[in-house]
Amino acid sequence: MADYDVIVVGGGISGLMSAMTLSKHHKKVLVLEKRSIVGGNCNSYDVDGFQVDTGVHAITHLQVGPLRRIIDTYFDYTPVFIDHGTYYVRSHRGLSKIPSTIKEFATFDVLPKMDRLLLSQTITKAITHSTLGTELTHQSMYDFLPNGLSQDAMDFIDAICYSLSGRPMKETSVHRMLTGSSLMRDSVPENFWGDEEIVRTYRALLINHLNGGQIREHLSVLSRLAVNNIGYSQAYPRKGLKSFLNAVLYSMSDSVEIKTSTKVERIFTREGMLKGVITDEDTYTADAVVYTGFVKDMPDVVDNLPASYIQDLEGIVQTRSATFWLGLDAKLPEFDYKGSEIWFKPRAYWAMPISNYDEQLAPPGKQLVGFTFIVDESVPISEDKERMYNTILEALPGIEDHIEMTHFQTTIPEKAAVTIDGYFAQPRTPIKNLYLAGTDTDRRSMGITRAGYSVLELLKVMRDDHHIE
Ligand SMILES: Cc1cc2nc3c(=O)[nH]c(=O)nc-3n(C[C@H](O)[C@H](O)[C@H](O)COP(=O)(O)OP(=O)(O)OC[C@H]3O[C@@H](n4cnc5c(N)ncnc54)[C@H](O)[C@@H]3O)c2cc1C
Repeated sequence: MADYDVIVVGGGISGLMSAMTLSKHHKKVLVLEKRSIVGGNCNSYDVDGFQVDTGVHAITHLQVGPLRRIIDTYFDYTPVFIDHGTYYVRSHRGLSKIPSTIKEFATFDVLPKMDRLLLSQTITKAITHSTLGTELTHQSMYDFLPNGLSQDAMDFIDAICYSLSGRPMKETSVHRMLTGSSLMRDSVPENFWGDEEIVRTYRALLINHLNGGQIREHLSVLSRLAVNNIGYSQAYPRKGLKSFLNAVLYSMSDSVEIKTSTKVERIFTREGMLKGVITDEDTYTADAVVYTGFVKDMPDVVDNLPASYIQDLEGIVQTRSATFWLGLDAKLPEFDYKGSEIWFKPRAYWAMPISNYDEQLAPPGKQLVGFTFIVDESVPISEDKERMYNTILEALPGIEDHIEMTHFQTTIPEKAAVTIDGYFAQPRTPIKNLYLAGTDTDRRSMGITRAGYSVLELLKVMRDDHHIE
């Protein structure tokens, strides 16, 4: 008999949500994490009295989506989520709301009038195409844009692409832009297709739509042009990002054992059958293993993977991000808002004053702001770090006089970037009973939400394979 029902390799949020949900299906689970703490990219810690997160985070799709399903079904404790607020763009003239609708686009005076006109037409065209079923996941934003846009407009779109996919507009798909800006939703309630009445209504509306009849606003994709909100259903967890991690940890059943500072060196098989894992100190056997490290690294950990599978994994595209956390000695008027901001002059950043959601994240009277950049891997990190820092100083003249804490982080935010031709693995691997979860096994949404999708897909295939009821 095996030591465990399931071994989960990696104690990031994907691994922990996998372990927690499997434990609720009465499985005896062992989580092995190579670092001394769990949480991976989803955590918070103290730096000189300021509580920073592992990167700037807004958690998405909270009203309807994978995390809502996991929270409602499996969590014993739910974090308090504070509405994200507004997305702004910062220019030398100050802050302007990022347009969500065609009407807001028309008055978005950060860009010249001609750009606004061309972009409004482009968005309408993209939504019309997607409503009519045109496949836009392999169509790059760059190829879809009209001629004649100014350099400012190109930089603005590039900045949005970087924040949605981690890659420039040449590698970001139109579909990604539409879903990331909430103009299209990629999640529906779990019972959506199972509920016959909803399906009947939806079909009737679609037929009506194709016949040119009236369509009810909340189900029409085109109507989003008028009513969209790009911050829809997004939030920041009170007490910081670690409160989401803690909610997962509090919800674990007793049947989960977690070992930190334990690196899995090999996932071993015998006669093609999965047997267990070998760590730097021990060997553990299990009926199933869920690997949540970088899928790209799997050939280093697992024997006998087929050559074609290894070749597919080489198609995974990654990106590296860096975050500057600045602890400010006062609450600055520049950050007197709830939400986040984008600076799009090259180089672009995405920033969030997180102590505006929860004052306790900074010492009394002070403020904590995170600035996330995509790292330019063509230059040494020390040089790039200086360029990033100088960008902040350029965007926010005078901020330097208020900085009392600087903390720099660099990491790979998602194990696979959603690009027009980047590869994503499936939860099932070619080895029976070896499964995958994490942000390189599902291309929907982003970050923690994508981790949630991957865990739901994992549960689905493990149910089909009779590991859980
Ligand atoms: C700057 C930044 C901004 C972000 N912004 C957002 C955002 O706004 N919204 C959002 O939802 N998400 C965001 N994310 C992404 C989100 O944090 C991650 O996608 C998510 O935390 C990834 O979880 P994971 O478990 O899949 O991977 P990871 O966190 O990478 O966890 C994998 C774990 O496996 C361990 N491991 C790997 N190999 C082994 C081994 N052989 N043995 C033992 N352990 C192993 C690692 O040490 C790690 O702890 C952001 C991330 C960053 C860095």
